Amino acid sequence: MIPYGTQSIDQNDIDAVVAALQSDFLTQGPVLPRFESALAERVEARFAVAVNSATSALHLSCLALGLGEGDWLWTSPNTFVASANVGKLCGAKVDFVDIDLDTGLMSMDALEQKLVQANKDSRMPKIVMPVHFAGQSCDMQRLHQLGQQYGFYIIEDASHAIGASYFGRPVGACQFSDVTVFSFHPVKILTTGEGGVATSNQPGLVETMRLLRSHGVTRDRSQMTEPVDETPWGYQQVMLGLNYRMTELQAALGLSQLSKLEDFVQFRRQRVTHYQKKLSCLPVQSIVEHGQGRSAWHLFTLLFDDPGLRTSVFSRLRGKGVGVNVHYIPVHTQPFYRQFGFDWGDFPQAEDWYRRTLTLPLHPKLTFSQQQWVVDCLEEALA
Ligand SMILES: *Cc1c(COP(=O)(O)O)cnc(C)c1O
Repeated sequence: MIPYGTQSIDQNDIDAVVAALQSDFLTQGPVLPRFESALAERVEARFAVAVNSATSALHLSCLALGLGEGDWLWTSPNTFVASANVGKLCGAKVDFVDIDLDTGLMSMDALEQKLVQANKDSRMPKIVMPVHFAGQSCDMQRLHQLGQQYGFYIIEDASHAIGASYFGRPVGACQFSDVTVFSFHPVKILTTGEGGVATSNQPGLVETMRLLRSHGVTRDRSQMTEPVDETPWGYQQVMLGLNYRMTELQAALGLSQLSKLEDFVQFRRQRVTHYQKKLSCLPVQSIVEHGQGRSAWHLFTLLFDDPGLRTSVFSRLRGKGVGVNVHYIPVHTQPFYRQFGFDWGDFPQAEDWYRRTLTLPLHPKLTFSQQQWVVDCLEEALA
């Protein structure tokens, strides 16, 4: 089976992990801060906080922004469930904003309409979380302007988008947001096995996320809330935290992978161009790059006119060993979310997208001949 996504690990990655294994620290050592600095520098952010998954990074971001009971978090229905779940984990209410059908991204028109209504009903979101679907940035300038007008925080779920840019600056620079989150799950652009990172330019937020990452415990006297006895072993728990730490093995792998980010993205772009050329004469529409920046191309998705055809093509391709996939089942249609009153029909564009979309294999080990096979199988399935 040609998978839709997979990692690429070379000897440098292996050597880096082995060196971490042989060092004095398996966790809480010197590699993690090095990884964080290198990543922050690469995406032009002041700070990076590396954790054990993007889900954890999203959760910490929401906690640090004070999301809690009585608050609303809005996100896209065209995402992995984690984007919405972190709101629920904070005790907040979750709602969704429909998408645009050419990109799969949150529709800024739909957002604006929903904000106008929410303002009348006093149900304003505390946080809006756009999702940079398939690797390209949402319209962050417009989102930021709406954020200024209506007073909400912005967390970018950029799990798909490390290596992408937006109007010439890297996604992650947080020019138009409070926090940006990347995932290092093996199907994403870079991997640490499991892992994620939050970037931000706000020292206060970052300090809180670092405390929350490690039990809310500090040894730094300036963070302590009560006078300390003069004991050298003294630490204080100043808030309720978690253990979301990234290990030294993961950070070492991340640092090594980060040095190849540009190559990975270039490779994906080249493969996408090849797909676009080969598919131009077939009766399917491929996902559009909107021109406000460069996509990191985590996913290459198609849109069929006919949902039935999509489903039969899916089965035929799977039958031939082509690991096609579907991104995403709209989150609001999941049984867990339907118990809060959501149902099919609530976000028609996201549902239409879901019924008609298909993700083709795209990853750093995909060869031209495998790509040709994918295209041949698709052609045959459409004939
Ligand atoms: C992968 C993904 C996540 C979760 O990332 P993990 O690192 O697996 O926790 C969240 N949001 C989106 C959009 C993702 O694709």
